[in-house]
Amino acid sequence: VRLFEKLRKKLTIYLSREQIEAVESAYLFSKQAHEGQTRSSGEPYITHPVDVAGILADMHMDPETIMAALLHDVMEDTTVTKSLIAEQFGNSVADLVDGVSKLTKIKFENKAEAQAENFRKMILAMAKDIRVVLVKLADRLHNMRTLASLRPEKRRRIAQETLEIYVPIANRLGMHNLRIELENLSFQASYPNRYLVLSKAVKHLQGNRKSVVEVIQKALNGALSKPKFNYLNIMGREKHLYSIYRKMRSKHLPLADILDMYAFRIVVDTVEDCYRALGFVHNLYKPVPERFKDYIAIPKANGYQSLHTTLFGPYGVPIEIQIRTQEMDLTADSGVAAHWSYKDGKLANGFLPNERTKAWLDSLLKLQQKAGTSLEFIENVKFDLSPDEVYVFTPKGSIMELPRGATIVDFAYAVHSDIGDHCIAGKIDRHFQPLSTKLNNGQTVEIITATQAHPSVTWLDFVITGKARSSIRHFLKNQQYSETVNLGQELLNNVLRSLKVDSKELSSQDFTRVLTESQLSTVEELYQGIGSGDFAPMLIAKRLLAEHDNYNKEFKISQPISIKGAEGLSLHFAKCCHPIPGDAIIGYFEPKQGIFVHVTTCRQIAKEDEREPEKYLPLRWDEQVKGYFPVDIRITVYNRRGILAEITQTLSKAEIDIEDIKVLEKNADSNKVKFILMVKSRQHLADVIRSLRKLSEVIRITRNTAKRKK
Ligand code: MN
Repeated sequence: VRLFEKLRKKLTIYLSREQIEAVESAYLFSKQAHEGQTRSSGEPYITHPVDVAGILADMHMDPETIMAALLHDVMEDTTVTKSLIAEQFGNSVADLVDGVSKLTKIKFENKAEAQAENFRKMILAMAKDIRVVLVKLADRLHNMRTLASLRPEKRRRIAQETLEIYVPIANRLGMHNLRIELENLSFQASYPNRYLVLSKAVKHLQGNRKSVVEVIQKALNGALSKPKFNYLNIMGREKHLYSIYRKMRSKHLPLADILDMYAFRIVVDTVEDCYRALGFVHNLYKPVPERFKDYIAIPKANGYQSLHTTLFGPYGVPIEIQIRTQEMDLTADSGVAAHWSYKDGKLANGFLPNERTKAWLDSLLKLQQKAGTSLEFIENVKFDLSPDEVYVFTPKGSIMELPRGATIVDFAYAVHSDIGDHCIAGKIDRHFQPLSTKLNNGQTVEIITATQAHPSVTWLDFVITGKARSSIRHFLKNQQYSETVNLGQELLNNVLRSLKVDSKELSSQDFTRVLTESQLSTVEELYQGIGSGDFAPMLIAKRLLAEHDNYNKEFKISQPISIKGAEGLSLHFAKCCHPIPGDAIIGYFEPKQGIFVHVTTCRQIAKEDEREPEKYLPLRWDEQVKGYFPVDIRITVYNRRGILAEITQTLSKAEIDIEDIKVLEKNADSNKVKFILMVKSRQHLADVIRSLRKLSEVIRITRNTAKRKK
């Protein structure tokens, strides 16, 4: 009972009685669920969720978040299900608890992967409800506060993870106070001795500075006590230990030099007062040129607003001044959490939570995109870490959830199958992009449709959602039926010709027999089956000729079928060797899947002298071949910052689309990177390779056609 009273005290400040009762019922539920469990310190487990809720209550978070905090470990550690929580406390609370549990569950093999993945998961969670992340941060903060009962190496590992994952997130969310506490606790857990020595030294030096601080404070008070000027607060600011430690290490400065700076914050009523206060303090002490920053007019990416200036103080000491309104001050301390804060049982500044989340998410993603180092670039394009979702926006701002790797066409079908069937072009963030473009988190996608447009068979090569795939198949089945029938007939005649049989020699009895054997009713169906790869034409031909003796049993097809591209349902371009126009090619019947086009030297297909003829189909490229074909290129480059960006720039200048990028090998001074590029022909590819070779960082370029070893 006493446990909840501490929390109740915090809640009474800003929530209504009914809201507190709802929170209390979540407490009782959680207490019962965790009954008998203890933390590693030996305390009852329930103390942890209550303290996590307390951290969020200090930020005046809304009642749903507080309830979710109380329940955040019940799904993980007990038999409670999401639907039970939903039944008792509503869907929003259940979604929040579920979100936090999912974030907690992720475990990874290697560290780099874990961090990138965790970070991404966090961002994803934000797309749905940023409060999930706030609960998770409060959870981590409480775990950091209570690390003492763990073994030192475990403490260090958790502290490291906190610095690498949670601190940057708190920073991007503008949660200054929480970030600083996480940093200091992590510093203490990682280097207990350094922490101790440094904190003693800082205390000592700060004692010496007291009189100077008082002199400056008095002068500032005097300067701002002009008539009709309302200032609320002037306070001295201390740098926190971790930032002092970081500065000493990175700038190799002694402690005294780092502390030789006096910092104050002035909080005023209105924005106008901020600029007036700036005038007064510039009048009091001379400003240091070029140190003035106006983050009120141009806020930081995490929403931070303030005026910054540096002054030449008394005795020549530098003084850093921040000037801002009370609202800006709240945002500066608690960042995004300030937008959820409640007052008298209501949201403090009546916006819609989802709009707020979208704005925050947008700014975070922009920040990520701007980062632009090679590694982050790879991070942005790689999608195969694990199968999960991307979140994108419709032009009207609603969020669509799609599986990772989904393309513009998948998006179109997800909106409506009519939109998918008639989509002709797509824009990502207002720029036209190829329909096969894979979507990334936070993008806004717009589909352009035309009534006469219809799906293309090539879409099947890149769509990944079941809905898109089945809708395209359905459409193609109807539309391309006759085309497939024609191809099937051509394939069969081709084989017959090679057997030196004229199709006219076959009687209707021959066909009837084969149709009965195959359980088909019309010749058209038979052709269609051949054209779509269900039946190998050679086998059908032999069965048709079963009652004839006078045909050439030496099977050799002399006339290859010409292909114009991926026409007809039945042709697929093999992903092992990626044939492009100009390559010598051959078709291979994959039972039930159709005909796959390979390069003749591909190791996936048999050598010529070992080939079973009925499984192979000679092919050649038509003179009129059109379109773009994927090709697999391996580039070895010197490990230099920005090199990948340079390569992609060269490619985009040559109007080459990149389908995929993957780093295959990472060495000390070089990387081997695989690119899947879209090219028109061998000639086109040769031109591209020539322009890439001009880059001085490129060591080697090879094309991979999965060639057999001799
Ligand atoms: Mn927890």
